[in-house]
Amino acid sequence: MERLISPRVTKEIVKKHGFRFTKSLGQNFLVDENILYKIIDGAEVDKEDMVIEVGPGIGTLTQGVAERAGKVVAVEIDKTLIPILAETLGEQENVEVINADILKIDIHKLIKEKSEGRPVKVIANLPYYVTTPIIMKFLEEKVPIQNIVVMIQKEVADRMQAQPNTKDYGALSVAVQYYCEPEIVARVPKTVFIPQPKIESTVIRLKVLKEPRVKVADEKMLFAVVKAAFGKRRKTLLNALSNSSLNIDKETIKKMLESSGIEEKRRGETLTIEEFAKLADTLCAHI
Ligand code: SAM
Repeated sequence: MERLISPRVTKEIVKKHGFRFTKSLGQNFLVDENILYKIIDGAEVDKEDMVIEVGPGIGTLTQGVAERAGKVVAVEIDKTLIPILAETLGEQENVEVINADILKIDIHKLIKEKSEGRPVKVIANLPYYVTTPIIMKFLEEKVPIQNIVVMIQKEVADRMQAQPNTKDYGALSVAVQYYCEPEIVARVPKTVFIPQPKIESTVIRLKVLKEPRVKVADEKMLFAVVKAAFGKRRKTLLNALSNSSLNIDKETIKKMLESSGIEEKRRGETLTIEEFAKLADTLCAHI
């Protein structure tokens, strides 16, 4: 089979099958070899690995990664792409395509059934409309994976790796960094896709930590505190937390901040993950 990664071949396949792009499924196909290998090299895939690809499209990234991986399982929501994938990837024996919505499948079960004990990595050129839910599904469900290397909207990548005291730092930064070490792999212009999206993209690597970055008594409390702290970014922590869905009175919040060693006038955007964890544990222990 011809290499898919070129504007010419992509256009030919789309035309041949009368494929119609569905904007609402974030269908922007990659046509640049340099970026393709940034994703594949970034994931450090080898013959030992099983790779889960989210949204293979016509199979461009799948074809590239299948040359390096032991096995590739590609999950595609759009059933009109399935016959195309059967043709473009038909000769690649280590590829299995599943027609499903990645948000609806049991990924633990998928890994158990397909991986044969191989280390698992995730790669994708993600549909922009569901980038965060897809990534958070892998992380929150504590799926046993080594890393996730994905092309996503530039602004979302910047938020994922942002540090305290920056404008991009928020609940998403804390959530992603709780589970992972994020690293920007490449900035990507609009011109490498067919059709071209309106936004700039970034390839980011999320190296999944063996244990979450901080140990807490109750993860739900940690994320409730984070949500409350960033819910009202411009307010002091004391005000943001006492007028929030935490439903804890101001006096108690004041005491808890004090015993966590956190100045009540600080804003959520200045807190490190360790400080959020300390505060969440203090609240857990006292209420
Ligand atoms: N991997 C291809 C490439 O790089 O050219 C296609 C990338 S395109 C940005 C995103 C792909 O994800 C599309 O093929 C789309 O149909 C698929 N997709 C969208 N939502 C999905 C979901 N919830 N589950 C699985 N695939 C999805």
